[in-house]
Formats: sequence, structure tokens, C-alpha cells
Amino acid sequence: MPLPLVAIVGRPNVGKSTLVNRMAGTRSAIVHDEPGVTRDRLYQEVEWNGRRLRVVDTGGLIFGDDSEFLPHIRQQAMAALAEAQAVILVVDGMEGLLPADVEVASWLRKQPLPVVVAVNKCESGQMGLAQAAAFWELGLGEPIPCSGIHGNGVAEVLEAVLPHLPESVPDTAEQEPIAISVVGRPNVGKSSLLNRLVGSERAIVSPISGTTRDAIDTVIEWEGRPYRLIDTAGIRKKNRVDYGVEFFSINRAFKAIQRSDVVLLVIDALDGVTEQDQKLASRIEEEGRACVIVVNKWDAVEDKDTYTLNEFTCDIRAKLYFLEWAPLLFVSALTGQRTQKIFEQVDTVVAAHRKRISTAVVNEVLQDALSWQSPPTNRQGKQGKIYYGTQVSDRPPTFVLFVNDPDLFKDNYRRFMEKHFRQNLDFTGTPIRFRWRGKS
Ligand code: GDP
Ligand code: GDP
Repeated sequence: MPLPLVAIVGRPNVGKSTLVNRMAGTRSAIVHDEPGVTRDRLYQEVEWNGRRLRVVDTGGLIFGDDSEFLPHIRQQAMAALAEAQAVILVVDGMEGLLPADVEVASWLRKQPLPVVVAVNKCESGQMGLAQAAAFWELGLGEPIPCSGIHGNGVAEVLEAVLPHLPESVPDTAEQEPIAISVVGRPNVGKSSLLNRLVGSERAIVSPISGTTRDAIDTVIEWEGRPYRLIDTAGIRKKNRVDYGVEFFSINRAFKAIQRSDVVLLVIDALDGVTEQDQKLASRIEEEGRACVIVVNKWDAVEDKDTYTLNEFTCDIRAKLYFLEWAPLLFVSALTGQRTQKIFEQVDTVVAAHRKRISTAVVNEVLQDALSWQSPPTNRQGKQGKIYYGTQVSDRPPTFVLFVNDPDLFKDNYRRFMEKHFRQNLDFTGTPIRFRWRGKS
């Protein structure tokens, strides 16, 4: 179970990181391997009076430079705040109240999150109280004087936050931005498509650096939900300047796949499926990513009739059999036709990718499968037996089946089982895995 999360917000240099380090004390542990967007942010674990929580300093992420602060806070902080259960707004007691603090506060007041105002750099008691009093004006309740350097007041800040936090958080995964990568050969229309997805009307969070060196991601919002577009360096630039045919780096595509929840595999309707597309497809399956196959340039296919779509579908299904479970979408990045459908599909496949099936239902489906097709018997007359199954993880959904002897279950029975699960439990757009486990 993840720990509750507190987001630290505030202007640069008010002492956010000093404060975070003070809270984390010597027990400070940096959590590196959180999935998705969280990988990039600095999380620290804090223990206070027997309660454990995590804090994330939004500072390093949000504020590149002072002048850019305000336009960026809403969008930039969004990703961090989407996961948090409370906010500590840190202000500088020595500098006093600044217009930037007022604007951040008025934005925070509109968020559905409890906010505690920590007035940092208040080393001395009496003076500190006077310094802190100026921040009542923020309209966020009692400002608490503290000092990240000396440590006074930090306990009070934590005490003020704790009542707002649940003991633990059921699942933050739902609120993390969904990481989407767009892969495909050069010239299939990846950047055109990305520009469509970003759109002019959508809130664009400024590019933020990804985990891979040189990778730049863009966070966008669609119907109130954040999506992170992986490795989008230069997408908007590219429309203005023709760089010529881009060098196809399959490793770069592989890295992008690895960092995504969902991969949009873009196929050129005019060229059809190529060997490179097949390589990408098999990697998507191997990495266990959700996927939508996007057939682009549909506008340029001439003389379309009712059979064209079927023919295309059959051809793609045959050549991209690794991804038989992935939905197909025929779009035009040029005209924008059906590009908005991409978000709907992404939501669908992500839901399947994260799906959890109760053990009771898993066993019902197993029983049903067994009654359709009994497990095979080997030459010695030994028949396969499935005792019990359970889902052990998601992203992608993974099931362990406890059997008498895994060797008795050959590929065709395994394929039948997967098919039966897919027919009964909707796993559109996600690979699923089975681990056949013997008694020993
Ligand atoms: P952040 O980057 O905005 O989170 O701020 P830092 O934690 O990097 O601190 C910015 C500056 O303020 C540094 O020079 C700190 O030494 C100083 N600072 C941080 N906390 C305190 C404090 O409690 N009192 C005083 N006087 N200075 C502080
Ligand atoms: P990338 O190399 O995969 O990023 O592809 P680009 O987005 O740069 O597009 C390559 C070329 O295909 C450009 O000349 C685009 O104008 C063109 N293109 C992209 N999408 C479409 C589309 O939906 N229909 C048509 N007809 N052309 C497109």
C-alpha cells in the first residue's frame, strides 16, 4: 500500500528542499523506482510520531526560472498534485508576502486539497510569529512559522498536515498521468499526430525532462485528466522546419516503449506494415505495454469502399499478430479525422492494462475453461490438472495457475486459456500473462 503523499509547493529559494530534508531527517530515503511520471520526481519518506508519509518537492520540477513561475504552476504542479492528499505551501518569512505567493495561494484555494502554510526562515520565536502573521492574508488558515535550517516549527507543520491524511492510499496509480509514446517509422506522421494530440486548446504543461538522457516529455490534459507524451523533443519545432527524413533509431523507440503505459504504434496507410513495424510490435508485447495501432494517412487512401477497411484490417492483423489484442484506429493527422478517438482508446486500454480480477472470478473463468476443454493427457496417460488460479499483478494483468505439472500444458492449451480469459474478461489493448506453476 502506498503511503499518503504531501506535495511541497512554493517559489524558488523559499527553502522547500531544506525543509523537506529536515522533515525526512536521517531516515531520508529517496524512492527511485516509482512507475510513470513519479520516477522523475524526488520523493522522500517521512516518519513522524509513528505515522509515515511521503513528501514530494514540486520545486525542482516546476520552477526553471522566476519569471516563468506563474504561467507554469497550474499545469506543472498538476501532475504532482493529482497524486497528493495535502499540500504544504512554503513561503519566505524574511522576504515577507510577495504577489507571487498571493497568486499561488489563490490557485491552491481552488484545488480540492487541504493546504498548510509554512512560513520558513522564521528562526526566532517572537519575531517569527510577527513574520508569519503577514501570511494570514493568503486566506489559507493559520500560517505556521518554522525554520528548515534550525528545525523549529517543523513539527508543528507536520502536526497540521497529519489530520488531513489517510493512513494509506488505496491506489495512486489511477491518478498518475498516463504515459503515452508514439512510435513508428520515419514519415508515418508521428509528429503530425503528436501535434494533433497536444492541440492548441489544450493545457500544455511545459516540457519536462524524462528519465532517459535528452528525453523531453510533454504533459497535456484531456477532459481533466493528465497524459504524459513520452520523448516529444522538438515535436512542435518540427512542423516549422523540415529536418528531412529523420534517422530511425530503433533503440530510441525501444526506450520510449519501455517508459510508457500505452504505445501508439503508427502505421502508414499508404505503405502498410513493414518489417520495422513488426519489430516494434513484438517489442511492445515483450515489454507488456498496452497498445493502440494507429493507421495514419487514411485520407490519402484513394477509392475507399466498404471492403478497403476490411482488407487493411486483415493485412495488419496477419502481419502484426503479436498485437492481435490491440484495437485498430484509422485516422488522419492531416485532417484531424478521428484523432480525438485516440484518447478514448487510450483510456480503454489503460483500464484493461491495470485491471484486477478477484480470485473468485479468476477461478470461475478457469472452471468454465476446463468444462469447455479438458487439459491434455500425455503419452503416459497423465492428465493435466489445474487446481487454482489468482491474479498476482497488473500492467499487464498476470495470473498464476497452480497445476500438477506445467509440462503437460502445451502451447495450444495455453493459447486456448488466454483466449478464454479474453472472451470472458475484457482485456482489449493489453497483453496478459500466465505463469503455470507446478506443485514443487
Ligand atoms: P528551495 O530550492 O526553494 O526549496 O530552497 P532551498 O531549500 O534550496 O533554500 C534556499 C535558500 O534559503 C538556501 O540558501 C537556504 O540555505 C536558505 N534557507 C532555507 N531554509 C532556511 C531557514 O529556515 N532559514 C534561513 N535563514 N535560511 C534558509
Ligand atoms: P514523422 O517522421 O513520423 O514524425 O512524420 P511527420 O509527422 O513529419 O509526417 C511526415 C509527412 O507525412 C509529412 O509530409 C506530413 O505532412 C505527412 N502526413 C502526416 N500525417 C498525414 C496524414 O494523415 N495524411 C497525409 N496525407 N499526410 C500526412
